Amino acid sequence: MHVKGLKCVDCGEVYSAKEVRYFCDSCSSSLDVLYDYDEIRGKLSWDILDGRVFSHMRYKEFLPLIDPEFVVRMGEGGTPLLESTVLGEKLGIDLYFKMESLNPTGSFKDRGTSVELGKALEHGAEEIVTATTGNMGTSIAAYCARAGVKARIYVPEDVGGPKLKHMREHGAEVVKVDGDYNDAEERAWEDKEENEMYLMGDYPYRGEGEKTVGHEIADHLDADKVVMPVGNGTLLHGVWKGFKELKKTGLTEKSPQMVGVQAEGCDSVVKALKKNQKKPELVEDPDTVADAISCGDPLDGDQAITALKESEGSGVAVSDEDILEAKKMLAEEEGIYAEEAGATALAGILKNREKFKQGEKVVCLVTGHGLKT
Ligand SMILES: [Zn+2]
Repeated sequence: MHVKGLKCVDCGEVYSAKEVRYFCDSCSSSLDVLYDYDEIRGKLSWDILDGRVFSHMRYKEFLPLIDPEFVVRMGEGGTPLLESTVLGEKLGIDLYFKMESLNPTGSFKDRGTSVELGKALEHGAEEIVTATTGNMGTSIAAYCARAGVKARIYVPEDVGGPKLKHMREHGAEVVKVDGDYNDAEERAWEDKEENEMYLMGDYPYRGEGEKTVGHEIADHLDADKVVMPVGNGTLLHGVWKGFKELKKTGLTEKSPQMVGVQAEGCDSVVKALKKNQKKPELVEDPDTVADAISCGDPLDGDQAITALKESEGSGVAVSDEDILEAKKMLAEEEGIYAEEAGATALAGILKNREKFKQGEKVVCLVTGHGLKT
């Protein structure tokens, strides 16, 4: 067992990982799962890892231990890293697409759900509650159906179409909230407090599943830059943590720079970076065509900002027009069908192309499938 506890990212308080906990009791900041990397160092090599199935569980030493009885799996992780056929050459970079849209419910969320639901069941959860802009909900609805657990999902009023249908067809109770993602999140939190439901979402264990995107990229490639969209910031923080822990345990010598891309109508982290703030700048009424990353008060915004700074990376905001153009280019020139948020990382590369050096190895995350919209 390599987990040492849950550490507050702000005040540093450490809590036991045996209890269910979402935020720091002292300062309400996010919690990060703390590992004993000295225990892992020297015991793992790429040869050992290569001998295991290519999935998020290949890197199990870096995951919170889950009793096998409670593990819920349906083929998540182990996604392809596709070499660009057209756009990389046009941009003069060595461009790859990490196809997170090919996870079981069509988004990167499944990696996190597999780990987080396993921990929830281990903690005795009987009924799950969550808030979602769509992808989190479809993933949790599917995995709860597979585990035989009830799920209640709060969604902002404007979420509709295939994602809503997807959640309902898995048997989840879907409740529309008059407001945005943060209003939906408040309702989910109330259910946790008042009805003793187990809250799932962008909390400590989800990022642990999502960080395996970083492990998998390093398994294939020595990337210079990794570009991804930023909603709640959990993915960015997770992927950076994945790269850091490979370096800490001697499996890699260097880590890539992270590039976080947000929509201009919801650019909380990018604004904070420009102002050199540690905390994201609240966006009151987020407005973007990329609804999957429309989080005005990102739960892991602080950690995303830290990840961008630590990796000497950058943040970029793109317009809805930029996102739609990138989506079209992905579809027409690379054969990749992405939802708007899934094309946001490419929009960031296109907008900031002068920041990418000739021949650099750049990985662009395609986080969600176009069939979801
Ligand atoms: Zn704290």
